[in-house]
Amino acid sequence: MKAWQFHSIEDWRLDDVPEPKPGRGEVLIKVRVVQPSVTEVVASRLGATHMSGRVKQIIEERAPIRLFGHEYAGDVVAVGPGVKQFKVGDRVASINPHVACGECSDCRSGREHVCRKGRNVGREIPGCFAEYAAIPEPAVVRIPDGIGYNVGAAFQPEDTCFGVVLTAGIKGGETVAILGQGVIGTGVMQLARAKGAGRVIVADIRKENLELTRRLGAHDVIDASRTDPVRAIMDLTNGNGVDVAVDAAGGDPQNGLAGHDTLLQAVKVVKQEGMVIQPAIVSGLLDIDLALLREKRLHLAWPRSLTRPEMEELVGLIAKGTLQLQPAITHVVKGLDKVPQAFAITGEKFKHQAINPCQVEVA
Ligand SMILES: [Zn+2]
Repeated sequence: MKAWQFHSIEDWRLDDVPEPKPGRGEVLIKVRVVQPSVTEVVASRLGATHMSGRVKQIIEERAPIRLFGHEYAGDVVAVGPGVKQFKVGDRVASINPHVACGECSDCRSGREHVCRKGRNVGREIPGCFAEYAAIPEPAVVRIPDGIGYNVGAAFQPEDTCFGVVLTAGIKGGETVAILGQGVIGTGVMQLARAKGAGRVIVADIRKENLELTRRLGAHDVIDASRTDPVRAIMDLTNGNGVDVAVDAAGGDPQNGLAGHDTLLQAVKVVKQEGMVIQPAIVSGLLDIDLALLREKRLHLAWPRSLTRPEMEELVGLIAKGTLQLQPAITHVVKGLDKVPQAFAITGEKFKHQAINPCQVEVA
């Protein structure tokens, strides 16, 4: 079969490799649609992400090696021994690419979803920039009837979005501000509404993203290219601020992201004892007046991992149309040979007016 392999960090090739066989507890997936994650795009250039160091080390030690490809949808074409939940013909996708180790103290106490050992699809487990991939059962979810492969391949980032909403404990009536309306921001907006948030205020600087989020149901939409989002959010809340503020735009400005600006804006617009949550991929040292955080007694949090029942709940929200992913899928290329093009487009979403990562239809 064909699969992308790194021979070095600069040398990524579409090679002929043996077709994998599903091992114990694994399903063999014929890949239909795959998309790069933004983290993978940054790591492929060894940019600033938590993954870059690990990627560099894996390539240096083990090239040629298959890496990346944890956002996918496909068909189960074979199952290994011991597989319980899936059969040949099932259509599947990914929500959490992490496979728990099963041995650490978290795993043994029923907290597999927080295990930090184990393996990840696209790193230790070869991912889906290939015609086929053998994936452990826990890393796979079934795609509901009526949902296509393209939407299936867009499931994975919603893991983070639902983690934001669950971490915030949104139960009904809260006011939520979301800075950034890309894939994560629009996902959080829809899921916060699904959980009953009373008012969701969003901001972005990209025209197409603002139009999309308005269509998907944001209550208040701020064009941050013209209006100071902090002032606008304070005005909309009569100077009170919001219960929950989400930084969904932060990250390395070299990758077109907002640096630490949106996190600092979130700190400013959150009300006393409110919560600031950061799903954005950030790094570096933060210059912040701690007195402001102390004075507000705010909660600063990062999205938690989903349990299996929460993943199923998320898939149910997609099946019902409560969480819509199709409208953000703006760019699709056909053929496994187009993977570098998908990385290039995803790496410059702003220039290409892309919202979701550029998808690759493999077959
Ligand atoms: Zn574990």
